[in-house]
Amino acid sequence: MISFTLNGSPVRVADGTSLWDAARRQGIDIPALCHDPRLRPVGVCRLCVVEVKGSRLLVSSCTRPAEEGMEVETRSPRVESSRRTLLELLLADHPSPCAAVPTEKGCALESWGARYEARAGRFAAARLEPPGGAPRHLARDRTSPVIDVDLSACILCDRCVRGCDEIQSNDVIGRLGKGARAWIGFDDGLPMGESSCVACGECQAVCPTGALTNRSSAGSAVHDHVATVCPYCGVGCAITAHVEAGRIVEVTGRDSPVSQGRLCVKGRYGHDYATHPQRLQVPLIRRESAYPKGPLSADVAGTGRRGKPGGIVRDEEVLPAFREASWEEALDLTARRLLDIRDRHGPGALAGFGSAKCSNEEAYLFQKLVRAVFGTNNVDHCTRLCHASSVAALMETIGSGAVSNVFADALQAQALFIIGSNTDENHPVAATFFKEARARGTRLLVADPRRPAIADHADLYLRFRSGTDVALLNGMMSVILEEGLVRQDFVDRRTEGFEALAAKLRDWPVGKAAAVCGLPAEAIREAAHLYGRAERAMIFWGMGISQHATGTDNARCLISLCLMTGNVGRPGTGLHPLRGQNNVQGASDAGLIPMVFPGYQAVGDERARARFESAWGARLDPRPGLTVTEILAAALDGRMRGMYMLGENPFLSDPNINKVRKALAALEFLAVQDIFLTETAEFADVILPASSFFEKEGTYTNTDRRVQIGRKVLEPPGQARLDWEVICDLAGRMGYPMRYGSPEEIFDEMRSLTPDYAGLSYARLAETGLLWPCPSEDHPGTSVLFENEFPRGRGRFVPVEYRPPQEEPDREYPFVLNTGRVLEHWHTGTMTRRASVLDALQPRPYVEIHPDDARALGVRDGDFVRLRSRRGRIELAVRVADRTTRGSVFVPFHFREAPANVLTIDVLDPYGKIPEFKFCAVAIEPVPG
Ligand code: SF4
Repeated sequence: MISFTLNGSPVRVADGTSLWDAARRQGIDIPALCHDPRLRPVGVCRLCVVEVKGSRLLVSSCTRPAEEGMEVETRSPRVESSRRTLLELLLADHPSPCAAVPTEKGCALESWGARYEARAGRFAAARLEPPGGAPRHLARDRTSPVIDVDLSACILCDRCVRGCDEIQSNDVIGRLGKGARAWIGFDDGLPMGESSCVACGECQAVCPTGALTNRSSAGSAVHDHVATVCPYCGVGCAITAHVEAGRIVEVTGRDSPVSQGRLCVKGRYGHDYATHPQRLQVPLIRRESAYPKGPLSADVAGTGRRGKPGGIVRDEEVLPAFREASWEEALDLTARRLLDIRDRHGPGALAGFGSAKCSNEEAYLFQKLVRAVFGTNNVDHCTRLCHASSVAALMETIGSGAVSNVFADALQAQALFIIGSNTDENHPVAATFFKEARARGTRLLVADPRRPAIADHADLYLRFRSGTDVALLNGMMSVILEEGLVRQDFVDRRTEGFEALAAKLRDWPVGKAAAVCGLPAEAIREAAHLYGRAERAMIFWGMGISQHATGTDNARCLISLCLMTGNVGRPGTGLHPLRGQNNVQGASDAGLIPMVFPGYQAVGDERARARFESAWGARLDPRPGLTVTEILAAALDGRMRGMYMLGENPFLSDPNINKVRKALAALEFLAVQDIFLTETAEFADVILPASSFFEKEGTYTNTDRRVQIGRKVLEPPGQARLDWEVICDLAGRMGYPMRYGSPEEIFDEMRSLTPDYAGLSYARLAETGLLWPCPSEDHPGTSVLFENEFPRGRGRFVPVEYRPPQEEPDREYPFVLNTGRVLEHWHTGTMTRRASVLDALQPRPYVEIHPDDARALGVRDGDFVRLRSRRGRIELAVRVADRTTRGSVFVPFHFREAPANVLTIDVLDPYGKIPEFKFCAVAIEPVPG
């Protein structure tokens, strides 16, 4: 500790504390323009200067650490005079008023100037027009759809440069020119909207003036501020929503252990879907057989060309099939039809799809309705389509499907292995932590057939042949075995079945693995060294691993790799399948899966069932229910008759859409509860207008297992109701009253039946939430799992043999189709395609084709091609890019007007029942004209 004197008072601080931080902790405000606590201090603005006794010059307090015995004055006349003069100089060259002072954040230069009564007029303005040496068209740049640039307000503090670089690791912004002609530029002088900027908004968030401002908040003044979380991905970034007159005008990052104030483009700018004019506002009932069920166009080639920008459902084309109804009529009809089907065909003829976008409370109530009222375990959600195989493998080998460590633990790891994860686009804020770790010296191994952006930061990138993950991982493990990198003490103490794995690996010498996965043996050896030699190494994976017919095998191999190297149970180690939706972890925790009650208590376990029967006052089915994909198959063959869907859109998200169309159309009765008229809702008999994320309160569990509260920001539009109230109302009409006063009451019931959630009261979750397991109200929550043992006791090695993909390319269908997401859109695009900024950034479907293949096909960027598989065809524009490998193409699956899942194969992984979204064979034909 250091003792020194600050403004005459004794102060003690930790060694290395800057004078600026020390003063702040004492409640002393030192002005600063270039400094932000999240950035490395640089001391260029000189506004934070203080006087240190014995020092000839004033020193910048953000860069100068406190020293033993120092005597520091932060407000001496000399200091105050220096600051005033500096502010006057800066203000002399500053527009008045500052270009945009959008929120209460305002312009820091102007507000410090006012506090110091700095008079700009004292100095004649020697303003350069345009400011600095910037070309005139870049000085006022409105090419970005979200951020306005006004370089006349720029004070060259470099905060935007450092925010882009140090916080987001995007490295887009830099200082161009020299001296008085210096200016801030994007990608060496491109307009912002044409640069490689990913619109995360970090630059405007850290800019202290009006040089970089959010267009959405320009001119707004009076705000409510609501602390909540982002509604999109499993990272679960903490946000503050700023509201004016019933509209979110700005979202800012909030400090939290998850995101540390960082956001991506969806979190910061993807909020106006909630007030989109197409929101459903009144219940709808289908007119008797006046229209065929379902979207008319999804299996028709050419829709990618005709779809209007945004491509969203045209209400005027669809709404005539429905008539408006009262809630009474819509819910009575729903209850009557579902009960009728149950009575005629038994509970097994009913099913429910819940949603990983809904809160824990809604997921809990939904599965309770299906189990206790419908009388079946046929309840599932989109976890089946993202990490079901990962969970199957984790349950089998470890006994828990949860991540072992939080993603921010990457900062403590010596090595990271990221496989099958396009992290920058699917989990953008998690990616910033991985890149930060790399910048601090952590070694980074990335493996993916389609080059993800994070590969640019990797020590080693492996572009292996698609679908050969098992061969690659067996090859890596065989090197680790052969070269004595196995942590034998860990294997002996904590695992079982290693001999069987070792025997299997002897069949997989690195040369054989290399031949199968199309890599040099040396690259696989190097990868094994990078991971296997680290003291602390973490594995992160995404749907490139899980969405295969061998998804469970792929995950089994990753788990074996982790266990054989003893990389679990400590900070900076472990296994982390990055979860997709914002509440896919919580929906599973809440029992929205067919095999288990809340808290992963098996429906077949008599004691667990007795506990739930007693709590819910209903007889419960001991047999596991059907999964998402099995339910749709059952609809096709007539076993499934009636369904209730809350917030799911299987028509776009499930494989082989033309089959899904037949399944949905075959249902006797379908009720859909959603915020928009989705493609699936077009098949519905009853549509119930739901509340959006921003209109309700509830808890959400992120990929780390952190349970956080999402708070109400807006009122639901029209007659739209809160989802939990609708579920309760429907249950009552089906003869099972559910009475709750608030989401908190529902959560209290859920945690009373879910041991890992027992200690998570709303009061404790407060602003930043807690990590489960949290078994009691005095428990702090758990960051690192499996420190001493696994839930199943010993970790189990499951040796795996390589199996090729189900539908290899051939002469007729020579290309491999890979599907996935893009940064700006989410899943079926229901929300993001109605978020104006996101839609503007990524308005149309496309197929990414390797330049060599494009040349061979005779197509260029923007040309149209037809993609055909054995199941259907779509037409869409070409994007030529070498991210994809020769012989493979990539299609994002968000776009209704060219739905990738028309093409995908509905073959399933036998264990996780997850479809093979990442591999099927397609043909490509140019479309003339
Ligand atoms: Fe939202 Fe995920 Fe982006 Fe964070 S990383 S802002 S949670 S979409």
